[in-house]
Amino acid sequence: MVSRLFINPMSIESQEILKESIDLDSIFEHNQELNNTLIHIGEGILDDETKIPNSYGDLVLKRIEWYFREKNDKNFKISEYSYFFNESIYKFDLIAFHLCSQAIAWKYNLNSKETKIFLETEKRIIKERLIRINDEIRESLINKTLSELLNNYDYLNWKDILPLIRSKKILLKDLILIDGEIILDENEFEEKFYDRMEDWPHRRIEMVFNRLIGYKTKELILTQLIIENTEEYLKNIKEKLQRIEIHPAIEELSEKIAKLLEELTETYSKFYGGEGILGVKGEMTALNKNAFPPCATNTIEGVKSGNRNDAIVLFLTSFVSYGRLNPQVFSKGISSKISDFDPDLKITTEEILPIIYEAASNAVPPLFEDQPQEKINIVSKLGFGMHDEIRIKNEGQTKWYTPMSCDKVKLHLTNICKPDKVCKKIGNPLSYYSYKNWLLKNENKEELLKEKKKNNQIKK
Ligand code: SF4
Repeated sequence: MVSRLFINPMSIESQEILKESIDLDSIFEHNQELNNTLIHIGEGILDDETKIPNSYGDLVLKRIEWYFREKNDKNFKISEYSYFFNESIYKFDLIAFHLCSQAIAWKYNLNSKETKIFLETEKRIIKERLIRINDEIRESLINKTLSELLNNYDYLNWKDILPLIRSKKILLKDLILIDGEIILDENEFEEKFYDRMEDWPHRRIEMVFNRLIGYKTKELILTQLIIENTEEYLKNIKEKLQRIEIHPAIEELSEKIAKLLEELTETYSKFYGGEGILGVKGEMTALNKNAFPPCATNTIEGVKSGNRNDAIVLFLTSFVSYGRLNPQVFSKGISSKISDFDPDLKITTEEILPIIYEAASNAVPPLFEDQPQEKINIVSKLGFGMHDEIRIKNEGQTKWYTPMSCDKVKLHLTNICKPDKVCKKIGNPLSYYSYKNWLLKNENKEELLKEKKKNNQIKK
């Protein structure tokens, strides 16, 4: 029988295992038991040692690497990570999950992109694990896990999952409801709709049930409840960490996660460039997120309701589009259109909009789930009229909105403006971007010069 802990790392039983098995002083040490388990699973990893995580710390990093590569790497092979979906790993992975929770809660905000990656990784792991379990075991595992999550429910009313509905993790339109009750089982379905199906053969009822409900409603509720509990868990850890000192191993783990995410973003991101391709003279180059001002980074990482819409639609849309296409707009002083710099709108579609959409999905609540009409306002601020997509034939119907000054951001979007020392020298987030690009470029040059001098001395 597959353990519930394989699906729900927040299960009550997890506490016992954690108490018995976590030794924070050794999370980066080679773990022979883990190694033996992985070698025994074998599939997809035996041809290359770097594919085998050797410690709990490695296992945490592999979880994140797997999720990130699956989303972004064209050459990704799921078989290299298939141990995550083998039940024999569940105790090790349970520990990795809890270590990762501590590290994420220590280093990042609960709305940050990194926290979202962690939660999405967990969601994806649950989904893949359930897919790989055979039908009979899967049904019983889902029922037992749901029962635990919902305190042995007999039947489920939509109000029982109100927090999930409020946070839009589950939409009412995805549920089949009769008098408020969520229909989850085939017998219930048959009973409730008996008058409409009494002449149907059983196979037909089964087919309709599977198409409308099947496993998917239970799996959706189960997964979102686990994610909701995990978010609560992260919040509690964060609060506790204000009172107690963090263990150095968790601090180290959070630094390793940050470094890994940075490397993965550099390697696989389509729309951000690295530090080597800076446009210091105002020419068009790929965006360099390392040069973004704090206000832009804060908006991308997730802003809350209140000034969420203005931060994304008014501020970020113009900042990212001018930063990528016309960073010298203020010194040139001529009004322009996006197509002057991006005639086929490829850069706008493939590089600029994804960043704006990333900020929209990181917002709390996510902008387009809450207010899909804001997509039209973004198109309008880019100069393409009041439409839901950018089309060249509509360009000019509205103006390409220029970036706000720091004074305006400070006045209207106070919560995204968290000045750093570069901010003291500039008056506009776009000038910050050009200036920081210049600084980074010079830092790179200095580094290269130092390196060259060192090499010459060695040769002499
Ligand atoms: S001072 Fe200007 S550039 Fe710096 S965070 Fe605030 S708005 Fe952004």
